[in-house]
Amino acid sequence: MSITIFKLALVSHCILNQAVRYWPPGAKLERPVFDIEIVSKLYRMGFSLLQLPCPEFTFKGNPRFPYTRTEYERIYGFIDHCRKLAFDVASSIERIVKLSTEPRIELAAVVGIERSPSCAVFKVPVLVQDSRVYVDGRGVFMDILEEELRSRGLYPKFISVDFKTKSIVEAL
Ligand code: SF4
Repeated sequence: MSITIFKLALVSHCILNQAVRYWPPGAKLERPVFDIEIVSKLYRMGFSLLQLPCPEFTFKGNPRFPYTRTEYERIYGFIDHCRKLAFDVASSIERIVKLSTEPRIELAAVVGIERSPSCAVFKVPVLVQDSRVYVDGRGVFMDILEEELRSRGLYPKFISVDFKTKSIVEAL
């Protein structure tokens, strides 16, 4: 007898709610409330979606400054804030996975956002000699979340959304 398995993806908050993204003061409402193309792609990949909290909005609100990862790491309390969010998410997911016998729910993926200081998976902005540059690496929250999930025996693949190209970025 085969068991039905749902593939769950934890998605960065702004994929389903663009209102929390960095908002330059005085900007007009040009973005859609959520990105239907990206959501459709994730749907076609067979994922059910669960929304992660936005680490930046829940710490700084909006408008906020477009900090790099380096700067967020220097802001007092931000890393602890990310740890708390990651702990709560991982506890909840651990329970969901453990309690789902039939149908089973597997944590298949975490979906981050390219070039975000907090949620990047492959390219992240950092400060090098006071200039903003993009380097290979994770955002603050994605790093901490991966660590927290691994400590509970959960090893989803980490993929990412590029809002500029409307694509899903995966490791080669
Ligand atoms: S990328 Fe992460 S921190 Fe930035 S708006 Fe989206 S959810 Fe929030």
